[in-house]
Amino acid sequence: MTAVRFTDVHAHEILDSRGRPTLTVTITSGPHQATASVPSGASTGRNEAHELRDGDPARYGGAGVLTAVGAVNGEVRDLLCGRPWTSLSAVDTALVELDGTPNKARLGANAIIGVSMATARLLAQLADTPLWTWLQSDGGQPRLPVPHFNVLNGGAHARTPLAFQEFMIAPLGADTVHDAVRAGAEIYAALRALLLDRGHSVGLGDEGGFAPDLTQPEDALQLLLRAIEDAGYPAGTSTDTDAVAIALDPAASQFRQPDGTYLIGNHRHSPTELVQRYVEMVRDFPIWSIEDGMAEDDDEGWRELTDELGEHVQLVGDDNFVTNPTLIARGADAGIANAALIKLNQIGTVSETLDAIRVCRERGYRQMISHRSGETTDDFIADLAVATGCGQLKSGAPARGERTAKYNRLLDIATTNPDLPYGRPA
Ligand code: PGA
Ligand code: ZN
Repeated sequence: MTAVRFTDVHAHEILDSRGRPTLTVTITSGPHQATASVPSGASTGRNEAHELRDGDPARYGGAGVLTAVGAVNGEVRDLLCGRPWTSLSAVDTALVELDGTPNKARLGANAIIGVSMATARLLAQLADTPLWTWLQSDGGQPRLPVPHFNVLNGGAHARTPLAFQEFMIAPLGADTVHDAVRAGAEIYAALRALLLDRGHSVGLGDEGGFAPDLTQPEDALQLLLRAIEDAGYPAGTSTDTDAVAIALDPAASQFRQPDGTYLIGNHRHSPTELVQRYVEMVRDFPIWSIEDGMAEDDDEGWRELTDELGEHVQLVGDDNFVTNPTLIARGADAGIANAALIKLNQIGTVSETLDAIRVCRERGYRQMISHRSGETTDDFIADLAVATGCGQLKSGAPARGERTAKYNRLLDIATTNPDLPYGRPA
């Protein structure tokens, strides 16, 4: 790449999908300009890069991001406009050095990831290529991912007694991403009708899935199964028919108790009892993937889960791995999980996110690219999922603008690139 000069870097506050402030960053190079907006989690892992909030109770209850905005418009702008750049990784490395802390706490990971994403977009634009083509890194064949639609919300994303956070449907057997999106939307509509029919609320959780007043995860799974069938799809994990599978993100850190047990409804489970409950769920329902089945600090429980189900079920580490290449490698050494969730703002730069994906590949771990529960209409992750060829993207329900922005971007890419394959890699 020839050296690029940036002429301006600018951030300001916008609102995310929960009505909380976040940053949008615009970077300029002569007549070219690119923008990125930053998401925010609610059920975060302890080791995530630091999201900088102002803490000023007079603004947004302390959640303002003017300090992070100020860092972008001051120090970061001076850095980026101060010299020519030859790669995204050079920019990302310089941002990490400028921050100077191990977890991006000084400038804020929210400031840094916004700048990194906008830089990637601008460099793609200057190279006159779509972001998904530009982001392609070593080893990954581009591919349209299986969308994982979170149609029923609990845990930290809903105000119901349901401990499990996410109940997703995954059209593993669809022929194209267009068919997959259609299946997601039709099943979402069937689930809504079913909930109304049974007298449940059709109010929504933070990721756009319904948030009925359920307590037991098996009751939610029954509803999903019924909705898949009502919409006319076979429920199953096969990729040979047009089957639709189920994926779970219990987010178990959120219902782990100080005594080490897991509280579901009013029943306390030992880690072994929880693992056995998953074994029964996998036996009774077409579940192909479980994310954060155990709490982030329960290595022993994670190992037990991996030993019991790791051969047949995808086990995704999110809160424990936090898109951190070192933590993913450590988990692989310890025999924990067989896949990692990938969230840009957990680690804080695009380059380190690509590093995390590379480590997954080296260790034989699958990857699922993910949104956050607090989102904007930024669709960067759709391009990232296609570029890496990981075959899986979760972006919430097939409804609400901030969720559908990503799925709609997949449809755009698929329409203009009809030869791209769809689905999870074999
Ligand atoms: P978060 O949850 O974005 O609220 O952290 C998403 C997840 O746990 O996968
Ligand atoms: Zn998760």
